[in-house]
Amino acid sequence: MNLNGTLSDEETIIRESLEEYCRRNIAPAYEGWIREREFPRSLMKGLSQLILGATVLPKDEGGVDEVTLGLLSETMGKYEVPVPAFLTMHFAKMLPLISDENTRENYVNRYLSGDLVLCGAFTEPGFGSDSASITTEAHLENNKYVLNGEKAFVSSPGIADAHIISVRTSEMHEERKHKGISLILVDSKESGLETYEDENMASLFRGDFGRVRLNNVRTPQGNIIGRENEGFAILMNILGIQRVHVGLYAIGLAMSALEEAIEYAKTRKVFGEYISKYEAISFRIADDWSKLQSARMMAFKALALNDSGLDNSAESSVVKGFGCEAAFEAVSHALQTLGASGYVKTSSLERKFRASRGFLIGDGTPEVQKLIIARKLFGKSFAP
Ligand SMILES: Cc1cc2nc3c(=O)[nH]c(=O)nc-3n(C[C@H](O)[C@H](O)[C@H](O)COP(=O)(O)OP(=O)(O)OC[C@H]3O[C@@H](n4cnc5c(N)ncnc54)[C@H](O)[C@@H]3O)c2cc1C
Repeated sequence: MNLNGTLSDEETIIRESLEEYCRRNIAPAYEGWIREREFPRSLMKGLSQLILGATVLPKDEGGVDEVTLGLLSETMGKYEVPVPAFLTMHFAKMLPLISDENTRENYVNRYLSGDLVLCGAFTEPGFGSDSASITTEAHLENNKYVLNGEKAFVSSPGIADAHIISVRTSEMHEERKHKGISLILVDSKESGLETYEDENMASLFRGDFGRVRLNNVRTPQGNIIGRENEGFAILMNILGIQRVHVGLYAIGLAMSALEEAIEYAKTRKVFGEYISKYEAISFRIADDWSKLQSARMMAFKALALNDSGLDNSAESSVVKGFGCEAAFEAVSHALQTLGASGYVKTSSLERKFRASRGFLIGDGTPEVQKLIIARKLFGKSFAP
């Protein structure tokens, strides 16, 4: 992608093929999915033909750089690709890090053929933003990790085929609590792993949000992701870049809401005039568009920095914090533009309003993003 926003031929083809797939297979099916409350597994199969390889394969076999992946995340938001599929694609970056070769191949192949939905279970009832203080623990017994603890507010626990779980594998020391954390992949079929649904504001499918309880769950030692006690750094790396993709998903969603509002404002007459003619309406949309475009450009800068191996922590946090706030505000204003017609459940804006609110919490809140930016600006010793 150039600075002027034009795409290379390859980027155009990848984005357009996803757009085409979404137009044909997602938009017409959405109402039915919501009525059934069943996550459509066929979607994973469809995406496997198109883009699932993007996050796990080498570049010459279908893998893409982060900038190209960003175009896909934005498109997924625009067409409201269900979040379990969106997150699986990003969590899949951890599959090539599974330590045992056979296990690694098995899960990568299942993912590539569209037979694997993943969830990442890191938050606990007592610890969300402070993700290094977790208490879920795992220890080795006869070449198996034995896991005990509880995770909370997790996306897709009742849908996922495998869970990537953060656990404490060595004693916690207050000064370096992030040092003793590992990531372990646990198959949903393992006995002792139970999931519980918490319906939330934006729930669409059974099992798309809730808790995971681990009661003496035994999983092979080779299921560890990376090395023991080094999981926190991997998690921060993956979530650092995932933040930008979540931001782009929210921005894509919000841009589609603005498009709806613009079309509506050009057809709805009130007091004898199209409402687009009232500056209160059109300037508000102009403001929202400006903020979304700024956040979007920052997102692609953050991804380009990552592709060049440069630090992008502050830029990523701007996208997740400011970008998701701008997205929520834009969707809320778009709904307002439609008046009562936007407030009914049959309107996609009602759904987008609830979904975009969640992005202000999941994967790190705007407050925590400001903390990260402040640390970069002031240095750790002077930041809050
Ligand atoms: C839609 C959604 C999807 C989610 N998906 C997942 C998932 O897939 N996997 C998973 O593990 N978790 C998931 N979560 C959980 C999410 O990661 C946590 O909710 C989030 O990290 C915040 O943690 P908390 O809710 O415990 O809030 P807390 O950490 O208790 O924070 C409470 C409030 O204090 C603020 N705060 C915290 N620290 C500071 C500070 N230093 N300075 C100023 N303010 C501060 C926060 O911003 C927040 O407003 C999801 C949550 C939502 C809403």
